[in-house]
Amino acid sequence: MKIMPSCRDITEQASDYLEHALSPWQRTGFRLHLLMCLYCRRHMKHLRLTIATLHRLPEETAQDDSEEKQLEAVLQALREAPPQGQTGD
Ligand SMILES: [Zn+2]
Repeated sequence: MKIMPSCRDITEQASDYLEHALSPWQRTGFRLHLLMCLYCRRHMKHLRLTIATLHRLPEETAQDDSEEKQLEAVLQALREAPPQGQTGD
């Protein structure tokens, strides 16, 4: 039975660790490894940053936002240059 997880184990368990899905024993080994391994500390830092950035993205950056802007642009263009050739009546 191995005491310390390998760097590969850390990489595989990283998201579980952040989601508190590891057993207490796994968690202890994980933290022990991080204490001794600069590479995995960096990996975890990067992963945390990535997750934090993803969670910070505003909801409004959805697709319908750009569609709305396109529609707005079309409406604006119509207002500035009304369609010609229909001036009957
Ligand atoms: Zn490592």
